[in-house]
Amino acid sequence: MSIPNEPSFRESVELMFNRAVALMDLKPGLENKIRVCNATYTVRFGVRLRGHIHTFTGYRAVHSEHMEPVKGGIRFAPNVHQDEVEALAALMTFKCALVETPFGGSKGGLCIDPREWDEHELEQITRRFAYELAKRDLIHPSQNVPAPDMGTGEREMAWIADQYARMNTTDINARACVTGKPLNAGGIAGRVEATGRGVQYALQEFFRYPEDIAIAGLDGTLEGKKIIVQGLGNVGYHAAKFLSEEDGSLIVGIIERDGALTNEKGLNVEAVRAWIAEHGGVKGCPEGDFVEDGASILEAPCDIMIPAALEGVINLSNAERVQAPLIIEAANGPITAGADEVLRKKGCVIIPDLYANAGGVTVSYFEWVKNLSHIRFGRMGKRQEEAQHLLLINELERLSADKELGWELSPDFKARFLRGAGEIELVRSGLDDTMRTAYQAMRAVWHGRDDVEDLRIAAYLVAIDRIASSYRAKGL
Ligand code: GLU
Repeated sequence: MSIPNEPSFRESVELMFNRAVALMDLKPGLENKIRVCNATYTVRFGVRLRGHIHTFTGYRAVHSEHMEPVKGGIRFAPNVHQDEVEALAALMTFKCALVETPFGGSKGGLCIDPREWDEHELEQITRRFAYELAKRDLIHPSQNVPAPDMGTGEREMAWIADQYARMNTTDINARACVTGKPLNAGGIAGRVEATGRGVQYALQEFFRYPEDIAIAGLDGTLEGKKIIVQGLGNVGYHAAKFLSEEDGSLIVGIIERDGALTNEKGLNVEAVRAWIAEHGGVKGCPEGDFVEDGASILEAPCDIMIPAALEGVINLSNAERVQAPLIIEAANGPITAGADEVLRKKGCVIIPDLYANAGGVTVSYFEWVKNLSHIRFGRMGKRQEEAQHLLLINELERLSADKELGWELSPDFKARFLRGAGEIELVRSGLDDTMRTAYQAMRAVWHGRDDVEDLRIAAYLVAIDRIASSYRAKGL
């Protein structure tokens, strides 16, 4: 999305990067090496469909190869362009460094409106695009590993994986060429929910620090907090679902393509999602009041705003009127550099994209490792894990029997605890741990340095410092 009188998305990311490196002591050569996007490949290919040859344009940008493979999703959207994929590739570099997944940054996109094509046609287009990229090692288990993004999901990843495998029949690691695959095609449990789950874990971690909550002018816990979610796609849906069902937050607004839905008592996320699936939008949904001008709800009062769709939705045209004291960027780049400044001046706390939506790539990393190790997660070490669980249960049962302590284990505790040792639990606990550790690294810089005003710059500082170290280790 290009916004009049504002820098492009790529320039916006660069402005944020510049604000961070101004506080660092990097050699100018190294600083520029980290700033620039290494390469962007543009491909135009034809596919015969409906009796005609249709030409499609696609991109794969590689931002930084300080670690390989490079990693990042493939987006299917009609307005994909080079500037956008380069901005997104840069964000991938910083995101991976921040959550310590050992990847460089990349991103791809295909200019297409997936809703205009049927499944079989989309398969032909996706396979052809994958062929073009794989031929140039832009899809490769050790070089470049795509994943889902806007407009793509498990289905497209399965086609890409199969296309790569057909082209590389002797590659035993072929499955690791892409992540976000369906479970039965080498995927991992919990990848679909991962980005939304990561947003939940990020907020849970933020709410563990009274000092940080107070900076946002809030108090207490996530329970009862009023949340507005912009975009009920994969990320927004899962974040809203988990926060409302597990943390007791109230989803008071959902903004979609055709308008918004509001309900001060909290919307039922499942019901809204089902309505959208059936009717293509939120209009008419009995769960809440329909507001035709959806964007106006970005300016409505709430405790937490979750932009979870496109970049640039909070920009200079509305930033001044945004009332949320806490914004968590579930999307990539939803706040422009200009709007970021306006919001900061107003005292709004922004949990930045490179941290907030890193759940996706974190679980992608688990999937990639699972594929390369050729072992089912949760199988190795299971006995030892169970033995430890039993020891813990025995101890808890002993304590629970002590009437003086005045608490009791719930009757189904043992069953629930033992059941929770499968792949999904491993993935969730690994993700939680990653989100907590990354927040703590950011927070230490945020509070530890007088010249660091906000979490975004703290996030960039942690990330850039790690990238610089790996370049130095390479002798650059
Ligand atoms: N497209 C997602 C992102 O923007 C996931 C990337 C990945 O898993 O490689 O972070």
